[in-house]
Amino acid sequence: MSEPIHILSLGAGVQSSTMALMAAAGEILPMPAAAIFADTQDETSSVYSWLDWLEKQLPFPVHRVTRGKLSENALKMKVTKDGRRFASSDIPLFTLSAKNQIGKIVNRSCTRDFKLDPLFKKSKQLGGIKRGQKTVGVIQWIGISLDEIYRMKPTREKWSESRWPLVEARMSRTDCLRWMEAKGFPKPPRSACVYCPFHNDHEWRRLKTEEPAEFEKAVQFEKAVQTAKGNSENFHSTPFLHRTCKPLDQVDFSTDEERGQLNFFNNECEGMCGV
Ligand code: SF4
Repeated sequence: MSEPIHILSLGAGVQSSTMALMAAAGEILPMPAAAIFADTQDETSSVYSWLDWLEKQLPFPVHRVTRGKLSENALKMKVTKDGRRFASSDIPLFTLSAKNQIGKIVNRSCTRDFKLDPLFKKSKQLGGIKRGQKTVGVIQWIGISLDEIYRMKPTREKWSESRWPLVEARMSRTDCLRWMEAKGFPKPPRSACVYCPFHNDHEWRRLKTEEPAEFEKAVQFEKAVQTAKGNSENFHSTPFLHRTCKPLDQVDFSTDEERGQLNFFNNECEGMCGV
C-alpha cells in the first residue's frame, strides 16, 4: 500500500500562509505534495494579490479550485409552491425582526459548499482515492494555530486524516506574524469573503479605509441579500451583515476592543474559512 500524500489546505490568510512558507523552508516535514486554495471568488483583491505572490515562493503547486461565486449562490433563491424561499447556499447573517429584536443565523452551508467540498474533491483526485476507500490516502494540513485550538475537528472522511502543524509547533497567530517578519516576508492579509458577517469591527474598518472598493461590494451585497430574502413566507426578519443591524455604510466601526464588546458570533469563520 502506498504512503498517503500530504496536502496543505491554503486559506491564504495568516496561519495557512505561514504554514506553507514554513514547509517551503523545511521547518515542517515532509514537504507537501500540493496546496489547495478553495476559492469563493469573493475574497478581497488583497488576498488574491497575496496568493499570486505566495504561489511563487512555494516549491509545491497551488491548486485553485472553485464551485463558483458564493455571493451569486447566496442570492439565488429556490421558491417552494407555498412561497417559502431558500438560498442555494446560506451564509451567516444577523437579523432584525419587526419588533426590533436582533438575532443571528448561524446555520450556514457556505463553508461546506464552497470550501470543504471543493477541497475534498481535489484532494481525492490528487491522492488517487477510490470510491468507498476506507484507508487513509491523504494527510490534510490545516492552518489552525494554538490560540484557535477549539476549531480543531477530526475529519469524518475515512480516506483522509487531519494534521495541524501550527498546533504541533505550539504557534499562535502572533507567533506566525513574528515568524513572517523575522524571515522578511510581507504581512499576510486576513482571508475571508468580503461581506462575511464574522468580520470584527477592526476588519470592517480596515476594509472601509484601505480597500474602499471591496467595502462597497459588501454594502451592495447587503442590499441585495435584503431584497432576495425579505418578505418571504419563511423569513420575516431583515438580514444584515453587521451585528448592530444597521446598514453597513452607516455603522461606526470603533473596534470591538474599544467598545469592550465581544464578537456576537464567537466562532469566527469556523471550519476551513480564513485559515
Ligand atoms: S468567509 Fe464567511 S461567508 Fe465566506 S465561506 Fe467562510 S463563513 Fe462563509
